[in-house]
Amino acid sequence: MKLVHTLTDLRSTTSALPRPLGLVPTMGFLHEGHITLVRRARAECASVGVSIFVNPAQFGPNEDLSRYPRDLDRDLGLLELAGADVVWAPEPAEVYPPGYQTYVTVEEVALPLEGAVRPGHFRGVATVVAKLFNAFTPQRAYFGQKDAQQAAVIRRMALDLNFPLEIVVCPTVRERDGLAMSSRNTYLAPEERRAAIVLYRSLSAAQAAFRAGERGAEELRSAMRNYLAAEPRAQTEYVSVADPDTLAELERVDRDALFSMAVRIGQTRLIDNFVLRDGVWETGSLIPSIPFSQRTLGEGEGG
Ligand code: AMP
Repeated sequence: MKLVHTLTDLRSTTSALPRPLGLVPTMGFLHEGHITLVRRARAECASVGVSIFVNPAQFGPNEDLSRYPRDLDRDLGLLELAGADVVWAPEPAEVYPPGYQTYVTVEEVALPLEGAVRPGHFRGVATVVAKLFNAFTPQRAYFGQKDAQQAAVIRRMALDLNFPLEIVVCPTVRERDGLAMSSRNTYLAPEERRAAIVLYRSLSAAQAAFRAGERGAEELRSAMRNYLAAEPRAQTEYVSVADPDTLAELERVDRDALFSMAVRIGQTRLIDNFVLRDGVWETGSLIPSIPFSQRTLGEGEGG
């Protein structure tokens, strides 16, 4: 596995790799969710590239850019084990050199939900992902269902800008109690970590209501809101039952639907979702009973 920092070194490395090349973009501080994407790319592609870049352009002025968790050495060990061929870990000035002024703006699908709460976020995401696509020229790019709107925005961008690649969206990987794995889970104090299970449970409550015959989207949103309201440490930012491709809110769930939410637990902002496609629920998978971190590193489970 080769670690490169400059774009020039990345280009010369990827040009020698067999194709198809699968790309897994990340912000590092890797967990089983990220590694699942790398393993999937490894299984489906001749070469695997990973980017580790905490992208300043997708953080708002009051967000957690400076305290976002980082551990490059640990990440490299995990990627080596998972079979990555090349890792690009650029400095911000390599991605956004002085004088930088070109951005990618995806419109309607980037406006609601995360886009409404985090103005400019998807402009930063779409810009860096477009640059990653140009830098790696992958044939496939792997994203997580956990960031459902991000996946929808990237799909739209790849289609609209004619990037010649396939976008692969992989199921959400969850802790054993159902909490979606996230680098940000490390911010949670123990009692917040226990409270954070409310996201998965409220999505499960909406799924149960649907299975019991409820089709009214507002009733299903209420089921999630009520469940969240019962957890004193949780502050709901939004709950949504929307079209999974356009993100437009639904009135009735008589078709594909994305059930999603953003919730603050203390100072930590968490997102999660279930998606119903062609009558099949995609709710993610729980990690095996031995935590990934113990299996590979001999450390305790991240909280
Ligand atoms: P991040 O480092 O948070 O930007 O995430 C990098 C990629 O990993 C994105 O495509 C995420 O959607 C994906 N990802 C993050 N957490 C999970 C998870 N728990 N399960 C599956 N994919 C994930």
